[in-house]
Amino acid sequence: MRLKNLEINGFKSFSKKTVLEFQNPIVAIVGPNGSGKSNVVEALRFVLGEQSMKSMRGSLGADLIFKGSKNLPKSSRASATIYFNNSDKIFKLSNETGENINLNYDVISISREVFSDGLNKYILNGSEVRLKDINNLLSSVNIGSSGHHIISQGETDRILNTSLKDRREMVEDALGLKIYQYKIKEAQRKLEKTADNMKEVSLLRRENVPHLNFLKKQVDKFEKAKEMQVALLSLYKEYLKKEGVYLEKEQSNLLSEKNKISLELKSVKDNLLDIEESEKPARNASQSDAGGEKELKVFEKKINEIRAVKNEIERKLGRIEGMIEMEERRKDKTPEVLIKNPEEIKAIFDEINSEIEVAVVEENIAEIKIILLRIKDILKSFKQQEINEKNPSLNSEAENLKKQHQEILVQMQNIANEEKKIFEKIEILKKEISQENEALHIKEKEKFNFRVRHQELSSSLDLISVKEQNLKREIESFENEIKEGGALIGSEILSYKNFETEKIIDRNAQEELKRKIERIKMKLEDVGMGGGSEVMKEYEEVLQRDNFLAKEMEDLAVSIESLRKLMADLKEKIDVEFKEGIKKINVEFDKFFSLMFGGGTGYLAVVIENKKNRREKTGPLEGPRSDFEEPDDEEDEEETILEQGIEINVSLPHKKVKELNALSGGERSLASIALLFAMSQVNPPPFLVLDETDAALDEANSRKYGDMLEKLSRHSQLIVVTHNRETMSRAGILYGVTIGSDGASKLLSVKLDEAAVIAK
Ligand code: ATP
Repeated sequence: MRLKNLEINGFKSFSKKTVLEFQNPIVAIVGPNGSGKSNVVEALRFVLGEQSMKSMRGSLGADLIFKGSKNLPKSSRASATIYFNNSDKIFKLSNETGENINLNYDVISISREVFSDGLNKYILNGSEVRLKDINNLLSSVNIGSSGHHIISQGETDRILNTSLKDRREMVEDALGLKIYQYKIKEAQRKLEKTADNMKEVSLLRRENVPHLNFLKKQVDKFEKAKEMQVALLSLYKEYLKKEGVYLEKEQSNLLSEKNKISLELKSVKDNLLDIEESEKPARNASQSDAGGEKELKVFEKKINEIRAVKNEIERKLGRIEGMIEMEERRKDKTPEVLIKNPEEIKAIFDEINSEIEVAVVEENIAEIKIILLRIKDILKSFKQQEINEKNPSLNSEAENLKKQHQEILVQMQNIANEEKKIFEKIEILKKEISQENEALHIKEKEKFNFRVRHQELSSSLDLISVKEQNLKREIESFENEIKEGGALIGSEILSYKNFETEKIIDRNAQEELKRKIERIKMKLEDVGMGGGSEVMKEYEEVLQRDNFLAKEMEDLAVSIESLRKLMADLKEKIDVEFKEGIKKINVEFDKFFSLMFGGGTGYLAVVIENKKNRREKTGPLEGPRSDFEEPDDEEDEEETILEQGIEINVSLPHKKVKELNALSGGERSLASIALLFAMSQVNPPPFLVLDETDAALDEANSRKYGDMLEKLSRHSQLIVVTHNRETMSRAGILYGVTIGSDGASKLLSVKLDEAAVIAK
C-alpha cells in the first residue's frame, strides 16, 4: 500500500484543482510563509476524516472553502481526494458482524467534500459512504484518527503537553490498537442495544404473562372438558349401543307379540262370528226343540189318557176275572179233575213254556204282564175244560165271561201296544231333546271360552299399546340423548353404532351408565365448550409468541455473552499488545533519545490514575503493573482502563533535570521527535506528515533529524513541510508552494536549489 497522490480543489487557499504526487519515500513541501503549505497538510487531515475544526484552523466548514479574491470567485465547496495504491489489497472494511472484507480495488480513493452550509460528504471509490466507514477503512491500514502520524506546525511537542490519557490514546493509535477500540465501542454499542432489546422483550413477556395465564387456565379447563368428552363418548358408545339394541329388541318383541295376539284375536273373532252364524239356524232348531217339547207333552198327555183307559180295562179285567173266579169256585165244589191224556197235557205245557220264553226276553213290563195274563188264560181254559166236561150249565156262563175276558184282553193288548208305541216315541223325543241340549251346551261353553279369550287378548293388546307408548317415549328419549350428547361431543357420538356388545342388556347396568353420563354431562355443561377452539388457537398464538420471545431472550443473552466475551478478548488483546508495544517503543525511544541528546535515557511508563488521582508507576520495560488489580465490576474496569495513562520519563545526559517542564524548547522538540520516531519505528504508519517539526533544530540536530527521516522512510512515506535545507536535501521530490496576487496557492515541482530559494 502506497500513498499515490492528493488532489485538492477549492480547499482553503487552493482555489483550483491541485495534485501532489507522492512517488518518492520523502516528499518535501517548501515555500514562503503564508503560501499555503500547511493548507496541504490540513487537506490531508481533512480527507482522512478530521473532525476537529480547530486542528484545521477553522471554526466552520465554510472556513475550509476557498473564499475567493479580487480576481477569483469563491468556491462552492472544498474537496480533497487521496489515492492509495492497493495492489496488495490490504485495505479492509469490517462489516456489521465484525468481519473484515478486503476491498478488491487496485486503487483506493477517498474523497471528502464540504459545502458552505457545513455539510460533509465522504466518497469511497466513487460511492458515498459514512465517516464511520472511512475511519473503519483507514484503521485497517494503521491510519488512526488521533492524527499521531500528522504533526502540524507547532505541534511537535504536543505529545509532551497532552494529558496522560490522550497520550495513551496517541500511543494506542500509533500501535494500531485503535481498531480494537473501535471494535470495543461498536460491541459496547451493540451490547447496550441488545440490553435495551432484552428489556423490551422482557417487558413484552411480562405484559404477556397475565393473558397467557388466563388463557392457560381456559385451556386447562377445555382440556379437562376434552378429557370429560372422551370419557363421555366412551360411556355414550356403550350406553347408546346397548340402549339401541335393547329398544330394537323390545320393539321387535312387542311387534311379534302384537302380531301373535292380533292373529289369535282375529281367529277368536272369526270363531265367535262362526258360532254366532251357526247359532242362527240353531235358534230355529231350538224353536223346533220347543216343538219337540210340545210334542212330548202331547205324547205324555196321550200316554196318560191311554194309561187311564188301560186302568179302566184292567179294572174291567179284574172284575171279569173276579167273576170268572167265583164261577170257578162254584165249579170247584165239584171236585176231581179228570186227568187228561198225556198228549193234551204236553201241548198245554209246550204252549205255556213258549209263552214263558217270550216273556223271559221281553223287557217291557206291560208286555210281560200281557204274556203272564195269557199264561193265566191257558191255565184257566185247561181247568174250564174239566169243569165243562163235568157241568155243562156252568160252562155257558163261564163261557160268556171267558169271552168277555178274551175281548178285554184283546183290548188290553191293543192299548198296551199303543202305549208301547207312544212310549217309544216319547223315549226317542226325549233322547233327541237331550242330545240337542247337550250340543247347545257345548257350543255355549265354547262361545264363553272364546269370549273370555277375546277379553284376555283385548286386554293383552291394550297392555301392548301401553308398552308401545312407553317404548315410543323411550325411543324419543334415546334420540334426545343422542342430540344432547351430540351437542356436547359432536358428530363423533354416532360412532356408538360400531360399539361391540352382547345382545342381552342388563337394564340395571344401563341405569348405572345413564347416571354416570348425567353426572359428566352436568359437569361439562358447567365448564361449557363454547369458543374452546378460538381460545385454544389464541393460547397457541400467545404461547408461540411467548416462546418466540423467550427464544429471543436466549438469543439476546447469548449475543450479550458473546459481545462481552468479544469485548473482554479485545480488551485483553489491547492490553497485551499495548504492553508489548510500550516495551518496543521504549527500546526505540531510548535509542532515538540518546541519539538526539548524545546520551541520557527516555522511557514511557503506564500509570493508573485512580479516583483519588494517585499515580502508580511501573518500570520502564515492564509496561503496566502485572499485579494491577482488576475490579470485579466491568464498568469500573472499563473506567480504570480509561484511567490508564502514559507518563514520559526523561533523563538528559550530564543534567539532573528529569521533569519535562524543565526542558528547553529545543530539548522538548528533540524529546518529542525521539518519541514520535520511536512510535513510528515500532509500528510504521503508511505515511507520516511532519509540518515544520524541524523548525527548532540547530544544524547538528538537523542532520540527526535528517538521518532519522531516512531511517523512517524505509517503512513509512514521509511528507515534510520544511524551511530546513538539510531536511530538503533528504527529499526525493520537492514541491514549491507560492501564493500569487490572486490569493490562490500554486504548486510547482522544484529542484533542491530552487526549493531553498523558494523557502526563503
Ligand atoms: P508558514 O510558512 O508561515 O507556516 P504556510 O505556507 O504554512 O505559512 P498556510 O498557513 O498554509 O501558509 O497558508 C495560510 C494562507 O492561506 C493565508 O494566507 C490565508 O489567508 C490563506 N487562507 C486560509 N484559509 C483560506 C480560505 N478559506 N480561502 C482563501 N485563502 C485562505
